[in-house]
Amino acid sequence: MSLRAFVSQRAVTPQGVRPAALLVEGEQIREVVSPDKIPAHAELQNFGELTILPGLIDSHVHINEPGRTDWEGFATATRAAAAGGYTLLVDMPLNCLPPTTNVAALEAKRAAARGQCRVDWLAWGGVVAGNPCDIEPLANAGAPGFKCFLVHPGIDGFTMVTEQQLRAALPHVARTGLPLLVHAELPGPIETAAKNLADEDWTLYDTYLNSRPEEAELSAIRLLLSLCREYKFRLHIVHLSAASALPELRAARSEGLPVTIETCPHYLHLAAETIPPGATLFKCAPPIRSRKNCDQLWEALHDGTIDLIATDHSPCPPEMKRLAEGNFQTAWGGIASLSVALPLMYTEASKRGFALTDIARWMAEGPATLAGCEKHKGQLAAGYDADFVVFDPESEFVVSTERLFYRHPVSPYLGEKLRGVVKTTYLRGTPVFSDGEFPGEPIGREFHKLGSAAIPAQ
Ligand SMILES: [Zn+2]
Repeated sequence: MSLRAFVSQRAVTPQGVRPAALLVEGEQIREVVSPDKIPAHAELQNFGELTILPGLIDSHVHINEPGRTDWEGFATATRAAAAGGYTLLVDMPLNCLPPTTNVAALEAKRAAARGQCRVDWLAWGGVVAGNPCDIEPLANAGAPGFKCFLVHPGIDGFTMVTEQQLRAALPHVARTGLPLLVHAELPGPIETAAKNLADEDWTLYDTYLNSRPEEAELSAIRLLLSLCREYKFRLHIVHLSAASALPELRAARSEGLPVTIETCPHYLHLAAETIPPGATLFKCAPPIRSRKNCDQLWEALHDGTIDLIATDHSPCPPEMKRLAEGNFQTAWGGIASLSVALPLMYTEASKRGFALTDIARWMAEGPATLAGCEKHKGQLAAGYDADFVVFDPESEFVVSTERLFYRHPVSPYLGEKLRGVVKTTYLRGTPVFSDGEFPGEPIGREFHKLGSAAIPAQ
């Protein structure tokens, strides 16, 4: 097999940013060496001062296929991912039909994905009311973990779980040893808030913000931490928005509970104070909160309380955003950001004094560990898949519809000037995005620790 050397003066390795050559044989990194140690027979590609980052991993994406492919789909989501520097997506079990709550539904997803993907993927299984018996079979069939909601998910076809239903599921989850990802908001505080807001002006962002109080997140997190202590399952809090939950999460971590935490680019880059009336493109749940809250989330990334950044890429047809009425009550909640998450986070992180090694930890290594692929993906290191991104950290660009690449090019970030441009994305040694183009046929496949042949229907 021929040997290729990809060289950069600024490779983002687990040992820091340094001049390095990735020696790639077939689909894998054979070794990472100093540029003066490249074997003479290697075919050389020199990126000079451009950075090489590990391919990013997004552990929170709503691909919506099969069933709601008019919202998004494998072809369009993985195309946007490749353009954004991602090489593996982990799909959420809802918004697609059937939802991924049993093995047959996982097989339907595999059938839908086949031949369409520009990057690799995995699918979380769902924990819903009445499917405890599907949990272990889903794990055996290749689901890397599970997702559940403690509040209505805002869409039909996927049910929330009450505490009692969750208790029925948790022994099964614990036996798999896989993480349970939880949408941590409880309905009580949301219902109480709604009673007082019926006559308010729903074109104002503040009305929506007040309808999803921090108390909903806090009370859910308290319940989950006590269940985690009782059932000893791996708990992962998705899209943490309320910074007021951080002290209790820090205490739980010091106690040694197996809890991990994610937040999203929109909570780290946007602030409630600047969302204009009627701008429903900014609606998501839990909501974007104050500038001060945003700063506190950054502190929690800094001290390691928050483990990772995932996009919660959740697109819909533009008409569902009700842009004409600008009504935050009836608009679909969800923000799509796969193609711009890296520059968004790099722009914000570099302003705050963070480095590309931090970005790699939050957006590649952290999500890889959550999804159980940390021995194969998420690092530039020997034996790992040759998934990497050639990134120009000095260039700036303005977010425009042509750069989004997902099915419906709407975004709250349009018109923003961001720092950092994805030049090329390599998936297992092959370029899948290069300067605005998607070369070749889609080669993305479902990730499996034992290789793709280990998945029955693949
Ligand atoms: Zn989500």
